[in-house]
Amino acid sequence: MSERHVQCSTCGVLRPESESHNVPTLDAASGHYVDGYYCSEHAGPALAGTRAHVAALDLEDDARDDMTPLLTLDALVRARGLASEAIDPPATGDGMERVRNEALALLDLLVHTRLPIVEPSALCSGCYRTVPASQVRVIPWFNDSAGDFVTTFRCGDCCASSLADTRARLDAGGAREVGQLAEFFQRHGVTILEHRRGDPPEVVRPLLARTLELVAGGQLRLQIGETVPLKDVLSSPQPEPAPAPEPAPAGPSLWGRIRRAFGRE
Ligand SMILES: [Zn+2]
Ligand SMILES: [Zn+2]
Repeated sequence: MSERHVQCSTCGVLRPESESHNVPTLDAASGHYVDGYYCSEHAGPALAGTRAHVAALDLEDDARDDMTPLLTLDALVRARGLASEAIDPPATGDGMERVRNEALALLDLLVHTRLPIVEPSALCSGCYRTVPASQVRVIPWFNDSAGDFVTTFRCGDCCASSLADTRARLDAGGAREVGQLAEFFQRHGVTILEHRRGDPPEVVRPLLARTLELVAGGQLRLQIGETVPLKDVLSSPQPEPAPAPEPAPAGPSLWGRIRRAFGRE
């Protein structure tokens, strides 16, 4: 299997992981620092941006929560294997100011050091390259043997052309394909009301076309794990009790560590 490929957050180009860089990047929505992936050309500007942001954090202003980004950055680089013991001479200052100085010194090490990309991989079934799971695009794809639209993974390179195939299938299809695609989105938690209430295909088809455009444009991100419609959960019998769990392995799982690094635990 070929080397895993990583998509640059700045230019969108996929390159082998060995040519990619993990630069802690501020997630504006959460205010947390998270892994950010860049090509060699764009890693430098990304690192400079992170450094400037950390240097400008106002740790004195109680009205602003500038500690959270700093603490999540500190936790992230430690989780990726960079420790403050690597800083020589040690950072100066007290309290949060010292944490900031440590973070700046660790960021300076990143000019010559690569942070690992630790998340699981997902396989693009268009080109058979693997990409980090967070970068894989989940799309509907018509599977001839199944005779239905199925959940498919595509990398950033393959997503647009595969969605164009799905769109062509929708445009050329009849009532059956329209209904199947609407049910696909329903399984992913996207309800198209006009389909659910039984409107004719000519009403539902343009709504599906618009939904495909949202997937293509990235405004609608389908999750890797299929969601199950609530009514199916409610109408299904209670599952058997789960078997006793395996003895816990020593230390947190990889996924647990990732979640923790992202501040989700
Ligand atoms: Zn780039
Ligand atoms: Zn691909």
